[in-house]
Amino acid sequence: MQPTYKEVVVIGAGLTGLTTALRLKIKNKDFVVIEKSDRVGGVIHTAVKGEFVYEEGPNTGVLGTPEVVELFEELDGKCKLVPADKNVNKRFILKNGKWELLPGGLIGGVRTPLFRFSDKLRILGEPFRKPGTDPHETLAEMVKRRMGLSFLEYAVDPFILGVYAGDPNILVTKYALPKLYNLEQNYGSFIGGTIKKAKEKKSEREKKATREVFSAEGGLSSLIFALEKSVGKENIILNCSGLKITKNGTEYLVCGNSGETEYQYRTKNIITTIPAYELPGIFDFISEAEIKPISTLFYAKTAEVILGFDTWEGISIDGFGGLIPFKENRDILGVMFLSSLFANRAPKGGALITVFVGGVRKGHLVDLSEAEIKSLVEKEVKDLMQITNFKPSLFVVWKHERAIPQYLKDSGERFEMVERLQKENHGLQIGGNLRDGIGMADRIKQAFELAQFSIDNG
Ligand SMILES: Cc1cc2nc3c(=O)[nH]c(=O)nc-3n(C[C@H](O)[C@H](O)[C@H](O)COP(=O)(O)OP(=O)(O)OC[C@H]3O[C@@H](n4cnc5c(N)ncnc54)[C@H](O)[C@@H]3O)c2cc1C
Repeated sequence: MQPTYKEVVVIGAGLTGLTTALRLKIKNKDFVVIEKSDRVGGVIHTAVKGEFVYEEGPNTGVLGTPEVVELFEELDGKCKLVPADKNVNKRFILKNGKWELLPGGLIGGVRTPLFRFSDKLRILGEPFRKPGTDPHETLAEMVKRRMGLSFLEYAVDPFILGVYAGDPNILVTKYALPKLYNLEQNYGSFIGGTIKKAKEKKSEREKKATREVFSAEGGLSSLIFALEKSVGKENIILNCSGLKITKNGTEYLVCGNSGETEYQYRTKNIITTIPAYELPGIFDFISEAEIKPISTLFYAKTAEVILGFDTWEGISIDGFGGLIPFKENRDILGVMFLSSLFANRAPKGGALITVFVGGVRKGHLVDLSEAEIKSLVEKEVKDLMQITNFKPSLFVVWKHERAIPQYLKDSGERFEMVERLQKENHGLQIGGNLRDGIGMADRIKQAFELAQFSIDNG
């Protein structure tokens, strides 16, 4: 079999791989995308049942980088960005079994029962506290040092559950929240740094990035379908197995099967966007010892439980949702009010909510049977949302065995190894959520960079 030459081969057709491919297409590069599954989109998957439109993967993104905005601009006419309702900033935190509004400003911050009085006073001194010196300091250590225990327990801990399904006691700030780490390192404080940064002059491109929360009309799969269409189905090979990449001088040979059909590509540019645990055994020019610091990245497991009610009889769900600090010792991590955030997700007068179970500290709950998970969710939802007549017409459990990568102490070693391998193997880029952030905005930004490197590499 004579291998076909491609300027770039992209492995994985999730959000990162598809966005990379779109950038290549725009620059008229000859490329192919190789995908293991029988569909594109990776963890992004919107489902529809009756009038309920729900996500089985990520629910919302943030327009946090110019690249996300530019991607939607590029897909204009094929996919419509939908900003979340203006009440998105209403977020609740559970304390002593009661939902409390997360304060957004100074007055709310003074009045809130979420934080101890001593910590509220302590926060006044935050700008004057010395920056940390340990690059491996965990998020919990950093927040306790700068802001106090109650801020850790009732602000940062639930925030981390919402983003990472993680544990601030093991996440390392430098890797998991690099922007926060840099605020302290570059400006000396979170508060002072935030104020100074807001005053800095921004380029027109930088101004595109906001904190606005988004989805797409019809759900996030519409974004994936628009990407697939723009990239061209003919450039994506699905159902790929037996992937092997060998090196021959300055070229790589990519081989495998798509169903019964064998494929072989020669290329100078390989981009992987697959999860870290999928990497071992793919490259014949990278040893097991070299790939190990990358492939051992720990992913938290979660279960998403989606509930649709034809008629909502619980407490007001006007807002983004509620998060549950670990200290509250409940069986769920939080709940998102999706039908309040986006129109056309539930019947009129009804509601669509998504409950999260598991995460780093409660992963064992994901191992329960579907019926057991439903039963614990029913108990928690009845209690926390004050529903007496619990009769959801949609009740779906979606397990993610390896959902969210955790940027722990070993991340430095992983990043260094990626860099070393890329340097030693020109044209190889090891991308995906094993580096550069876990959110959709991070993935899109990385995709732009991956594509640009290959374009520059010829
Ligand atoms: C449950 C959950 C909830 C989330 N919630 C949010 C959220 O609310 N907001 C947010 O911003 N982010 C969220 N995220 C994160 C965000 O969804 C991901 O970072 C992003 O979608 C990952 O895209 P990706 O393309 O990098 O990876 P993936 O989606 O994992 O795609 C990788 C692709 O590679 C393919 N593949 C794997 N192995 C091979 C192989 N050997 N050969 C070929 N192909 C292969 C896979 O089949 C897959 O299609 C969430 C993630 C999960 C799992």
